[in-house]
Amino acid sequence: MSRFLSYRFADLEPYVPGEQPQDQQYIKLNTNESPYPASPKACERARDAIERLKLYPDPDCKALAESLAEYLAGKYGVQLTKDNVLLTNGSDEVLNFAFMAFCDEKTPAVFPDITYGFYPVFADMNGAPYREIPLTEDFRISPEDYAKAGGTLFIANPNAHTGIALSRDEVEGIIESNRDKVVVVDEAYVDFGCESCVPLVEKYDNLLVTQTFSKSRSMAGARLGFGIAGREIISDLNTIRNSTNPYNINGMTMAAGIGVLEDDEYTMSNCRKIIENRQYTVSELKKLGFELTDSIGNFVFMKHPDYDGGKLYEDLKKAGILVRHFTKERIAQYNRVTIGSREQMEAFINTLKEII
Ligand code: PMP
Repeated sequence: MSRFLSYRFADLEPYVPGEQPQDQQYIKLNTNESPYPASPKACERARDAIERLKLYPDPDCKALAESLAEYLAGKYGVQLTKDNVLLTNGSDEVLNFAFMAFCDEKTPAVFPDITYGFYPVFADMNGAPYREIPLTEDFRISPEDYAKAGGTLFIANPNAHTGIALSRDEVEGIIESNRDKVVVVDEAYVDFGCESCVPLVEKYDNLLVTQTFSKSRSMAGARLGFGIAGREIISDLNTIRNSTNPYNINGMTMAAGIGVLEDDEYTMSNCRKIIENRQYTVSELKKLGFELTDSIGNFVFMKHPDYDGGKLYEDLKKAGILVRHFTKERIAQYNRVTIGSREQMEAFINTLKEII
C-alpha cells in the first residue's frame, strides 16, 4: 500500500476471482463459463465492429438496449422498452452500481451468509454497512428471514455456490414485504432451469433483476451484463453510470450482444446440453458417494464424507482439472464444479474415480 491511498480503502479486501491460468491446459471447471463457443452471429458482428474501432461507442447503447428490451419482452411475456434496461460491463458492474445507488449508512445491504462473494466487497467499496442472513442448515434461503429486512436486499437466484433456487412466488413474497426498499435479484444463472423474476418488473417499482451474457450466452470474455427494472430505478443507475464511465460497453461487445440475441436458439440449445450434462454429472457423483445441493445452475456444489474438500481441489488440480474451492468455514468441505461439455464431465468423473 502506498502512503497516498485514501483511508477509505485502507482496509478494503478485494474480491478474488477464480484462477484464470494462462500457462497450462487445464480442464477448466472453476469459473462457470460456458464450454461452448460464442454464437457465430455474435462473432461475425463483433468482427464487423472492429472497422469502427477509432470511434467512441454509443454511450446510450441504444441499438442493443432496444434489441434486448424486445427480446426480454418476448421471452417473458412482459411490456418492456429500452428505458427498462441498463447494459453494463458484466453484471458485476450493474451490481456495483446498485450498491452505489441504493446503499448507505442509513440503508445497509442485506444478503445471505453464503452467496456471491462480491457482495460484501461492493458494500465495503461503497462504504455501506451490510448484514448477512445465515442460510438454513441445508443451505437454503428461508424467505421469512427476509421479510422487512430493513435494507437493500441482494438475492442471487439460483444462489451462488449452492445453485438452489427460490420460486418466483417466494421471491415475490420477499419483494412484497420490502416495498420501501430495493430488492436486487441476481439471475446470473437463471437460464439453466430457474424461474425468472423479470415478469414482476411491471408490478414492483422496488425490483431490480440482473442477468448476464457471460454464462448461458458464452460471452464471459466480452463483459456484458444488464439490469431490468422500472424506468426510475434504471434512471438512477444511469446517473451513476454517467458519473463513472458513460462508455462502459465497448463497440465489439455491443455488436456481439446484438448478434447473440438474434441467435437465441443456439443459446437455448447450449443450455439444454448443459442441463443434460448436469444430470449426468449429478448421477455419477452420487454413485461415488458425493453429497450435493440441488443445483439448477451450470455448476454443482459437492462434498465427499471421506475426503477433505481442500485436498480434493488440490488433487484434481494436479490431475489437470481446475474446480473452485472456497475457504469460508461453513463451505470449506465443498467444491464448486462448473458443468462443461460431456467429454469434460466424463474426464472429471474418471479422474475422481482414480482419486477417491
Ligand atoms: N452474479 C453471480 C451470482 C455470479 O456468480 C457472477 C459471476 N462471477 C456474477 C454475478 C457476475 O458475472 P458477470 O460480471 O460476468 O456478468
